[in-house]
Amino acid sequence: MPAPTCASCHTARANLRRPRSGQALCGACFCNAFEAEVLHTVLAGRLLPRGAVVAVGASGGKDSTVLAHVLRALAPQLDISLHLVAVDEGIGGYRDAALAAVRHQAARWELPLTVVAYEDLFGGWTMDAVARSTAGSGRSRSCCTFCGVLRRRALEEGARLVGATHIVTGHNADDMAETVLMNFLRGDAGRLARGGGLGSPGEGGALPRCRPLQLASQKEVVLYAHFRRLHYFSEECVYAPEAFRGHARDLLKRLEAARPSAVLDLVHSAERLALAPTARPPRPGACSRCGALASRALCQACALLDGLNRGLPRLAIGKGRRELELEEAPRRSVPAADALTAF
Ligand SMILES: [Zn+2]
Ligand SMILES: [Zn+2]
Repeated sequence: MPAPTCASCHTARANLRRPRSGQALCGACFCNAFEAEVLHTVLAGRLLPRGAVVAVGASGGKDSTVLAHVLRALAPQLDISLHLVAVDEGIGGYRDAALAAVRHQAARWELPLTVVAYEDLFGGWTMDAVARSTAGSGRSRSCCTFCGVLRRRALEEGARLVGATHIVTGHNADDMAETVLMNFLRGDAGRLARGGGLGSPGEGGALPRCRPLQLASQKEVVLYAHFRRLHYFSEECVYAPEAFRGHARDLLKRLEAARPSAVLDLVHSAERLALAPTARPPRPGACSRCGALASRALCQACALLDGLNRGLPRLAIGKGRRELELEEAPRRSVPAADALTAF
């Protein structure tokens, strides 16, 4: 059976069916629709005001590659300027190739690029050094968690360095749904409360952050990269991913097979939920060292670096981990589902 005609331009042959709607489109019409939807997400959510200087967290991977490409296409309409900021975690054999992909993109798209390295920002600590120090040898599973904390800090520093007013990251709907599901499964009401919405307004002096691809499915991000012929770096990090996220991902895949709207429904659920007053976590204060939001004396990044620098890595990680859990998952007697009320 020949491919149907594109439902949008009615002239070209359709190249794909949109995973969510089943609509048959040609590649060009699909890419235009994808860009229009990201534009709508940004405008409807008032994510990026006119004149914003936007730091794009660029990893060389598919999500940030697509994000940078789409925002570059939308920049004149949105009246924003873009600056790619890449973080060099110091992961031998992995990061170098990914950074090469980012450099290639920056040159091809004529976008300014700044690379910030853990080593420079964090007193000589690379992720490989942190891993050696925390696990004795090999690359431990908790690395992902700590790397996430440090990367967030590094991106913030990089964005400030280039005079950015806003930070955008490439998280897509599948990433967000996984996170929401994990928070539900852990009964983590505090994170559910903070994780909703399309971004954070920049509390505690942090730059406002948002995720313009938050409503775009992973499949469509891949399709967009394909039809726009974008080259990205697709290798997995050498450090094992967080195990629990893998379980959430598998579960979500099965849910999606039975109910294609499950991913977006979950993302929207988090936006519409509100915590009951009794379940609200205490308002975080400021880190005594760097001023970032913290629910203890030190923020996560400072607590982790403090332990590493005191030469007590194992102790520091154990302690840091508890601090992370306390900060990320306040222990509450009220299960998340009971604590939440829908508007
Ligand atoms: Zn078409
Ligand atoms: Zn701090």
